[in-house]
Amino acid sequence: MAPTDGSDADFLRHGALLTIDLGAIQENYRGLRARLRGAACAAVVKADGYGLGAAEVGPALARAGARDFFVALPCEGLALREALAGLEPAPRIFILNGFAAGLGTDFLAAGLIPVLNSLGQIAAWQDTARSAGAALPAAIHIDSGMSRLGLPPAELDALAGDPGRLDGLEPLLVMSHLACAEEAENPKNREQLDLFQAARARLPALPASFANSSGIFLGPGFHFDLARPGVALYGVNPTPGQPNPMAQVVRLQARILQIREIDAPTTVGYGAAFRAAGPTRIATVAAGYADGYLRSLSSCGTAFLAGIATPVVGRISMDLITLDVTQVPAERLHPGALVDLLQPGDGLDRLAEEAGTIGYEILTSLGRRYRRVYRSA
Ligand SMILES: *Cc1c(COP(=O)(O)O)cnc(C)c1O
Repeated sequence: MAPTDGSDADFLRHGALLTIDLGAIQENYRGLRARLRGAACAAVVKADGYGLGAAEVGPALARAGARDFFVALPCEGLALREALAGLEPAPRIFILNGFAAGLGTDFLAAGLIPVLNSLGQIAAWQDTARSAGAALPAAIHIDSGMSRLGLPPAELDALAGDPGRLDGLEPLLVMSHLACAEEAENPKNREQLDLFQAARARLPALPASFANSSGIFLGPGFHFDLARPGVALYGVNPTPGQPNPMAQVVRLQARILQIREIDAPTTVGYGAAFRAAGPTRIATVAAGYADGYLRSLSSCGTAFLAGIATPVVGRISMDLITLDVTQVPAERLHPGALVDLLQPGDGLDRLAEEAGTIGYEILTSLGRRYRRVYRSA
C-alpha cells in the first residue's frame, strides 16, 4: 500500500497520487446487479476502463462475477482478452464499434464478438464466418433514436423482411442504447423503449440488452436480459439530482510544492487572471491540465485541504494549480502536504459540474503522470 504522507521518494517523483479502489468498483457492480433481479449484468470497460485501467478493472469485475464485457474498439478487446486470460469459461467480449472486413483474424484469434451496427457489417461478419467454416457469434444493434450506431429503420426493415441475412451467424443478443437515461422524466426513454420492443418483435427471438448505468434506474421495464453499466461502476452518479447510490472509487491527491503570501495588487498565474484584493495565501500544487485537471476549472475549481474547500485562483497551468488557502490553518500548510483534488464523497460529479462537463470526461481525462495505486477489497 502506498504511503499517503507525500514524503517517499517514488511519490516525490510524481506530483499526485491517484488511488483507485477496486473493491469499490466490485461493490458497485454487485449493487447494480442486485437491482436487476435476475437479469444479467455486463461491465462496460471501454476507454481503458473509463480511464482507470482496463487491465486492473477488468479482472476485478470478473472476480465480482462479470462474464460479459463491452469495449469500443478491437484494440481494446485484444488487450482485455489478455488481461482476462485463464478464466473459465472465457468471458464474452463485445466490440461496440462493430466489425470491419480485414479484422477477421483478430476477432477470431481473441474470440471477440462484434456488435453489428449495419447490414454492411452483418455481411462482412458473414463473409468471415464463411471463410472460417463456422457460425460466428454476434450482437445486433438496433438504432432506437440515437442516430449514431446501429441499424437505422430502413435497414431494420430489410433485416426483418429477410432473416436469411443472419445465416451463418450465431446471434447472441439484440441491443439498443438510450439517449437520455439520466433524465428519468424524459419522454424519449419511453419512446425508445417502445421502438426497441417493436423492433425485437420483428426479429428472431433473442436475449435483449438495453440499459446503461442510468437505464438500470429507470425500472425493471428497461432491464431486459443483460444490462450494460459503465460509468456507475466507477462511482459517477447515475441518478443526477438525487443522492449518489454508488461508492466512490477514485481519490486524487496532489502535493503542495510551494506556499506564498501575497497582498493586493499582486496577481497569480498566466494572464494575471487573479489579483489579490488583500492578504492572501496561495498554495501551488503539482497537477495541471496535462494531467486532465481541465483548464476550464481556472478560477472555478475547488480542492480540499484538511476538509476545507480551497478555491482555484487564476488559470490552470500545464503542470500546476494555484489555490487560495487563506482559510486553512497554517500548521496544515507546508510543501509536501496533500490536497484532495476530488471532494471526498462525490468528487467526480462535483468537479465535473465546476468544469462544465460530465463525470465521464473527468474520469477519462485522468492523467498518465499520476502515481497510480490500486487498492483491492
Ligand atoms: C458507453 C456505453 C454504455 C455504458 O454507458 P454508461 O452511461 O457509462 O453506463 C452502454 N452501452 C453503450 C452502447 C455504450 O456506448
